[in-house]
Amino acid sequence: MPLYQNQTLKIYNSLTGEKEIFEPLNDGYVGMYVCGPTVYSYVHLGNCRTFISFDLVFRYLKHLGYKVRYVRNITDAGHLENDAEEGEDRITKKARLEQLEPMEIVQKYTVDFHNTLQKFNNLPPSIEPTATGHIVEQIETVKSIIENGLAYEANGSVYFDVLKFNESEDYGILSKRKVEDLIANTRDLAGQSHKKNPQDFALWKKAEPQHIMRWPSPWGEGFPGWHLECTVMSNKYLGEQFDIHGGGMDLKFPHHECEIAQGTACNGKPPVKYWMHANMLTLNGKKMAKSTGNNILPVDLFSGDNEVLSKAYHPSVVRFFILQANYKSILDFSDEALIASEKGFEKLMNAIQLLEKLTTSKSSGIDVKAWKQSCYDAMNDDFNSPVLIAQLFEAVKYINACHHHKLELTQEDIQTLKTTMSDMCFDVLGLQKIDVESKVDSKQNELIDLLIDLRNQARAVKDFKQSDAIRDRLLELGVQLKDTAQGTSYEFSN
Ligand code: AMP
Ligand code: ZN
Repeated sequence: MPLYQNQTLKIYNSLTGEKEIFEPLNDGYVGMYVCGPTVYSYVHLGNCRTFISFDLVFRYLKHLGYKVRYVRNITDAGHLENDAEEGEDRITKKARLEQLEPMEIVQKYTVDFHNTLQKFNNLPPSIEPTATGHIVEQIETVKSIIENGLAYEANGSVYFDVLKFNESEDYGILSKRKVEDLIANTRDLAGQSHKKNPQDFALWKKAEPQHIMRWPSPWGEGFPGWHLECTVMSNKYLGEQFDIHGGGMDLKFPHHECEIAQGTACNGKPPVKYWMHANMLTLNGKKMAKSTGNNILPVDLFSGDNEVLSKAYHPSVVRFFILQANYKSILDFSDEALIASEKGFEKLMNAIQLLEKLTTSKSSGIDVKAWKQSCYDAMNDDFNSPVLIAQLFEAVKYINACHHHKLELTQEDIQTLKTTMSDMCFDVLGLQKIDVESKVDSKQNELIDLLIDLRNQARAVKDFKQSDAIRDRLLELGVQLKDTAQGTSYEFSN
């Protein structure tokens, strides 16, 4: 029997503002769509936070036994420099600056995106469609929205008619905005736009002569509006209605609001049952962003090569730091916070290694089954990873107490601890096992080598009192030195 039948998962739905019991549209199956990156520069840690948050969701749904189809797109066309649909295409601009083909830019940063997420141990999505691979489908969708009377052509572009849509539906339903307020706050770019109303958004944009990424369409040469690809690709791979749609909080408006409008305009029903939004990672209290330069790259974290870092960090330590915060909370990045996460992470890994060495007793001093359920309760409460991690540290206490013979555990309970720790740490949180002992071993070996060097220096100046003292003290510690023609080696004598 799949686990989900015994667990009640609740998801905070941004659409309703409530934590709701998760009931997929088709029993046992989940369709999930997450907005992917615009591949015009290296992904920063803020982007990674959002993708790690949804990797946690994907992993837990799979762990519960759901068959999940996870679609995450690559935006490789159509995203203009500013979200108000003006300016140069982000990819084309970068291509110009780096003197590369737009598709070279796309390839370069898609590869970086994949490599980075792989380092963080994110699972690949089931399908990763690209905007440029779905131009035909996007044109078809624009045609059907025009046919349904909710879009109009103007000077080679096609715009979504927000006011018309709002007559029968609710534009602003997700972001809790009112169309009247939007009208009051939207700047009309006099003479620059052919929109009927300034709050209308582009489904298809006419390509100006200098615009390289262009495709033929019934309205002339152009390119799709940024919001359209997600509607088209989620519809194609997950159906007219699907279970979960995710993305960063900053995409709620206008991107996701427009997705709801487009999907509803096409199919007569809202596309998504549960909307999920991940909160922002900040640096110095401000949102990490590509455009402002206020960001940190994962590669710097792994090498330690950045002035805000005191050292290098293992990708799993960074992942652990991210998962120690709830995905709905703002998280501020700092070196101190990473150092604290590293300590916690090593403590956890140490305890997992100790689990193999515990001796069993006839009875148990604690209720391990209740502890196990508390781990599931944490995840069932809208993927509350910090609460789960607090429960894992409870287990660390039990394991250490048992190791020091201050707590008794039966064989069955030790087995439950082992499987649950492994399930939660590695399958659900997606951490990678770091062998803490081997880290200690390699430090130990370096220290022995250092002492051998010091002994050799003493011998070179005929200070045999010192060199013999080093040899004898090491022997007392169980390290036997052996002098051979090739140099000095050692072995552990006990
Ligand atoms: P982009 O490539 O800019 O479209 O962003 C890709 C994803 O990263 C989107 O889901 C954004 O919401 C998310 N994102 C961007 N900046 C941050 C940040 N500082 N913290 C968390 N997520 C972010
Ligand atoms: Zn999207």
